[in-house]
Amino acid sequence: MANKRDYYEVLGIDKNATDADIKRAFRRKAKECHPDLHPNDKEAEARFKELNEANEVLSDPDKRARYDQFGFEDPMAGMGGGGNPFGGMDFGGMGDLGDIFNMFGMGGMGSQQRRNAPRQGNDVRYDLRLSFEEAAKGCTKSVEFYRNEHCTTCKGSGAKPGTQPQTCTMCKGAGQIRQSGGWISTVRTCPGCGGAGKVIKDKCPGCGGTGRTRVKRTLDLKVPAGVDDSIILTKRGEGEPGINGGPAGDLNIRIVVRSHKLFRREGTNIRLDMPVSFTQAALGAEIEVPTLDGKVKYQIPEGTQTDTEFRIRGQGIQQLGGSQKGDLIFRVRVEIPKRLTDKQRELLRQFDENSTGKEYEQKKSFLDKVKDLFN
Ligand SMILES: [Zn+2]
Ligand SMILES: [Zn+2]
Repeated sequence: MANKRDYYEVLGIDKNATDADIKRAFRRKAKECHPDLHPNDKEAEARFKELNEANEVLSDPDKRARYDQFGFEDPMAGMGGGGNPFGGMDFGGMGDLGDIFNMFGMGGMGSQQRRNAPRQGNDVRYDLRLSFEEAAKGCTKSVEFYRNEHCTTCKGSGAKPGTQPQTCTMCKGAGQIRQSGGWISTVRTCPGCGGAGKVIKDKCPGCGGTGRTRVKRTLDLKVPAGVDDSIILTKRGEGEPGINGGPAGDLNIRIVVRSHKLFRREGTNIRLDMPVSFTQAALGAEIEVPTLDGKVKYQIPEGTQTDTEFRIRGQGIQQLGGSQKGDLIFRVRVEIPKRLTDKQRELLRQFDENSTGKEYEQKKSFLDKVKDLFN
């Protein structure tokens, strides 16, 4: 799942691709890896499978919209329906469930409402990539996204201009067919119109009868300081248009924060590993600690051990929607020198000869324990 390739990438097309582009790209790519043309080629077989899957989703306007919205994390995926969660024109796999409820007279009204009442349009998902600093401090970003809108040629009806969708003759526009037999009555989605109540005879050339077209939109977004990875910012009403006069869906912008070379984030705190030389650690030193606002001087005490953590208050990240700021916590990593000059080696030998043994608490306690063990 994690390394599944993006469907647009698989087909080698842009997010703006039209249905014709998708068809063309699929045909071209299929030739390159069709199993009939590449017998016993496992890699070609896998690519063909991947290609088919991508084509199946992107060539279906509803599935494509859901893929744009949710990516591979579609909560409805595998449920067979593929319509929107509130039930749409395409009731698909949910149909059976609806029928069962109707048999017991439970969901009759609900289904009726679901099909003909105004419904909110689909939400649109957008991944916004930010640097560590942009997320911490906030920024303004121009967001370019795609959404389905009412086709301008047919104003969303799906019918060729000058014609009208016809009331379905099978269900007389109800979208459902009710059958009574004794004390049980069943209600089914009308197979003639798929529950829409209307049938389009002359399809609109602009949208192929779906009533929708894919449009690129740009929006300036103010990202507040303190946003973190996976947070979703919602722009109400910037999603797809409502159905039957319902309200538009939302634009859900999911924040993806790139990792930083030095800093790690922990809530509103920033963590940092800070290498210091063994002499700095032993003697104590004023070191320069990088923060989001530049370098800060910090005095580490004599005898600082490796892995000791120090906290600089207020140098963390601003709380999202608040005014509190977290801290910067840096952990000292004592570095032992690797390449010594002869002079340095000599000085260290002298240092060791002058050792009383009391400088090394841990070593002393360890040796005492070893002594106890063998006596
Ligand atoms: Zn149209
Ligand atoms: Zn019908």
